[in-house]
Amino acid sequence: MAKTYRNYINGNWAGAKTGKTFASYNPAKKHECVGEFQASEEADVYDAVIAAELAYQGWRREKAKRRIESVEKFLANMESHRKEFSEIITREQGKTLKESDGEINSSVTEGQHTVRRYASLASDAADGEFAGALEMTSIEPLGVVSIITPWNYPVNTFCRKTLPALISGNTVVAKPASFTPLCGIYLAQLVEKSGFPTGVFNCITGQGGGLGNCLVAHPAVKAVSFTGSTAVGRKINEIAASTFTRTQLELGGKNALIVDESANLEEAAKAVVTAGFGCAGQWCVSTSRVLAQKNIAAAFTEILLRKIAGLRIGDPMLPETDIGPVAGESQYRNILKYIDIAKAEGCELLCGGGPVNGLSDEGYFIHPTVFNNVAPDKTIFREEVFGPVVGITAYGDFDEALQLANDSEYGLSSSLYTNDISHALKYSQTVETGMAHINVHTGYKDPRFPFGGWKNSGNGRPENGKYGIEFFTETKAVYWHGM
Ligand code: NAP
Repeated sequence: MAKTYRNYINGNWAGAKTGKTFASYNPAKKHECVGEFQASEEADVYDAVIAAELAYQGWRREKAKRRIESVEKFLANMESHRKEFSEIITREQGKTLKESDGEINSSVTEGQHTVRRYASLASDAADGEFAGALEMTSIEPLGVVSIITPWNYPVNTFCRKTLPALISGNTVVAKPASFTPLCGIYLAQLVEKSGFPTGVFNCITGQGGGLGNCLVAHPAVKAVSFTGSTAVGRKINEIAASTFTRTQLELGGKNALIVDESANLEEAAKAVVTAGFGCAGQWCVSTSRVLAQKNIAAAFTEILLRKIAGLRIGDPMLPETDIGPVAGESQYRNILKYIDIAKAEGCELLCGGGPVNGLSDEGYFIHPTVFNNVAPDKTIFREEVFGPVVGITAYGDFDEALQLANDSEYGLSSSLYTNDISHALKYSQTVETGMAHINVHTGYKDPRFPFGGWKNSGNGRPENGKYGIEFFTETKAVYWHGM
């Protein structure tokens, strides 16, 4: 019998008012139930928002040092629960144990960076000058913020939003994705252990479609930080616009990796394997379009296929596994649908192209799949598949490569493999993506720099860097003369 987990509201573990629950399953063993979770409704969101609103006045007035200490304790708790937590992520999301451990590592590193950045902001503010008049910029929190996260990086996206929100004095209502509610509840358990005052952080599970309106439109909610699909991001923005509720939207991608004629082909192929098939192709920054210069396209493709043939697909709990299952049934069906469309539209299948024999009865396993001759009008060139599917398109001159890279409604990440400085420069100045990589794969990130997308891949301030904290704060110019 699977354990039932409750919402975390106002420092208590509460059941949904209706008493309804839903189950989360292991995508590698599709009949194994990971747990039962509260199928919350708007009344439960309301309770969480009120708790956060009541806690806000106290939390915003806490000394910065106190808030920093709680966030540091939370990060230390993540570190000390690393092994158990990695196993939970893998069991619920399906990525390999190595990848889950990497997700925790990246969450802690980014969190530590947030602590350092906020500590320096707080110390700069304390250095105000008084010379007959006090004039300063006061940096203040917003109030209650809603945090809505996806299932592909259930821990990293949570931390990238929640930690800057809390450290800068906001209170939080978080809703994890319904594929990964246990990751959200486990994070709430770590928050509970970290000394935050009651009501400062609240976490509720349930279907986003039913809860979204209240999480965005409740008058006490001053900002929404959302990561997920472009379609849902657009809905959130429409609701938020009418109340001027601030939004930070990190959305879908169709990320291109250009292999220039001068590129190191081994390195470029390694990058496509890492970013095309890591987390079974379910990174928002996954490489899904490879643009290869026509003179080297055949040689590059041969190397790529050799590397893919060496990947081991299977139980994500085993250390030797490179690729686990995709996250759940709807994902599985959607990806297979796109593979069928690519075949029907005449794209040339080079490898993969369907479920993994012997494993797909157990879980949602799909072969790493590569299509060649993917013209820009093909569906898999234009739409986000969000699975282990890469399309190769050959190009002639470098301007054509840039035109193809930018020929997308999305603008999240991109990459260029080259040894030509003029191409690197032109690419960095021309590409329409929030993250541009030269000789490093499309998923590479560093917490010092902004993480966010252009065009239909994002809206509002990006995460990380100084922007991650800026999003959760308001500025006030204070002029105090003549006392
Ligand atoms: P999704 O369907 O948009 O869901 C994301 C979150 O929003 C989930 O918690 C979901 O809850 C909730 N939600 C659903 N409908 C909602 C509504 N009407 N109002 C408010 N919240 C709602 O996306 P997903 O399938 O989980 O994630 C995959 C997408 O996320 C891909 O497009 C991927 O590219 C994108 N992504 C982007 C980034 C980035 O940083 N740019 C990072 C990771 C993923 P339920 O789970 O309960 O439906």
